[in-house]
Amino acid sequence: MTARVLVVDDVPPNVKLLEAKLNSEYFDVQTAYNGPEALELISREHPDIILLDVMMPGMNGFEVCRRIKSNPATVHIPVVMVTALDQPSDRIAGLEAGADDFLTKPVQDFALFARVKSLIRLKYMLDELRNREATTTNMGWDESAANDYNKEAPNDAKILIVDEQEHIADRIARVLDVVGDVTLMIGGEDVADRAREKNYDLIIVSLTMRDTDGLRVCSRIRSFDETRNIPILVMVSEGTDKQLLRALDMGVNDYVVRPVDKNEFLVRVKTQLKRKRYADKLWENFHTSMHLATTDAVTGLYNRHYLTNHLDTQLAAAMRYDKILSLMMMDIDHFKNVNDTYGHAAGDKVLKAFSMIIAKNIRGIDLAARYGGEEFVVMMPDTPMDWARSIAERLRKQVEQHPFDVGLDAGPINITVSIGVAASTDQAMPAELLEYADKAMYSAKSTGRNKVIVAEEPVLEGSSS
Ligand code: GH3
Ligand code: MG
Ligand code: MG
Repeated sequence: MTARVLVVDDVPPNVKLLEAKLNSEYFDVQTAYNGPEALELISREHPDIILLDVMMPGMNGFEVCRRIKSNPATVHIPVVMVTALDQPSDRIAGLEAGADDFLTKPVQDFALFARVKSLIRLKYMLDELRNREATTTNMGWDESAANDYNKEAPNDAKILIVDEQEHIADRIARVLDVVGDVTLMIGGEDVADRAREKNYDLIIVSLTMRDTDGLRVCSRIRSFDETRNIPILVMVSEGTDKQLLRALDMGVNDYVVRPVDKNEFLVRVKTQLKRKRYADKLWENFHTSMHLATTDAVTGLYNRHYLTNHLDTQLAAAMRYDKILSLMMMDIDHFKNVNDTYGHAAGDKVLKAFSMIIAKNIRGIDLAARYGGEEFVVMMPDTPMDWARSIAERLRKQVEQHPFDVGLDAGPINITVSIGVAASTDQAMPAELLEYADKAMYSAKSTGRNKVIVAEEPVLEGSSS
């Protein structure tokens, strides 16, 4: 893993020492010697992670951290406070200033690389989610994102503790009472399997169990889809670096060393819960914006943009596997009359009901889209022309016979639809196929409406007839 690390400390030898350590692991290191210099560099360079000394003249580390975390443009950059004082209160002050983690001087190589790597991995994941969100919504990164990140930890989290020593687990559970519900599991290798059924926000695993291999529990949690993204915090005893390294390698998010300091433990748990909620929120935004970008709000069907993109892919696949893809182009007959007679709202209701008839009559692999105002397209992979024609005919009949209830005292209304069908050939390009279906649909219109017309086999250029 390589990343750009900013080291901030007012004492040059401290900077040099960290720089040398990080360089030896091929990190790209930048340095700053006071708060303002650091802030300037951060806003210009956007490093991947910041190692920040607490005790600096002028602006101290807490203040620098607060400024980084209150700026929407930099809030996502992980900050690790480096403190000379082995004072739990100082560390907690750092975490409360918004720091993501802390290290105590003299900095141990193991702790340094473990924390840095785990935070960078997390940052890359969040960056990826944010990029996706920015792409799908085409929106910039605004204030609300920073607010989400800085929100208080939840008080309704679901936490699982896996430990064989019940009395210790009990004591931990009481500390965590303020953040939510805690469930205890007394070891057992099937812990991960049982965890799949619940939606935990955090899983705490002891790596010092006698009868259960805690590492195996962690690796199984990471291997199931349902539990893959749940943060894991492990509890280890002093001097088990090798075991801890394995744990961090398999994606464990954080660790505490026994005997556990109550306050530190609680702050670490809160940090994990906050990040989890932030990541969940990003996923949710991503899915929502994906949904908005691909579907039509009135009918719930896919939109034209999605259809044309997907048609490219499907047509290429059809050619590759020597299958036929068929298209149906539909247009409601005299729909303007519906609007003119019963109003636009009634027209919308018809469009919705019409869409549901389409949706009910197609298979899972087919794709229905609203192509325009009262025009719809159904794409049917692996469907020869004859078959497509009979599906279209069935649809046409159903629409003709369906009473469209638009809330009128006079009762339901009737509509009809004209449908054009086209099937792919060896040469058909997406645009052409849509064009053939459209032409066929227009000949259905011009020859009386309420009918299905199949596109003629296109005459290939250069062929004689
Ligand atoms: P044709 O049989 O030739 O297709 O006649 P038509 O009246 O259906 O066709 P035309 O293209 O003249 O009119 C389409 C109408 O569809 C006009 C427009 O007001 C209406 N329309 C388009 N989108 C919507 C919509 O979202 N809601 C409603 N209520 N009406 C819509
Ligand atoms: Mg129409
Ligand atoms: Mg029309």
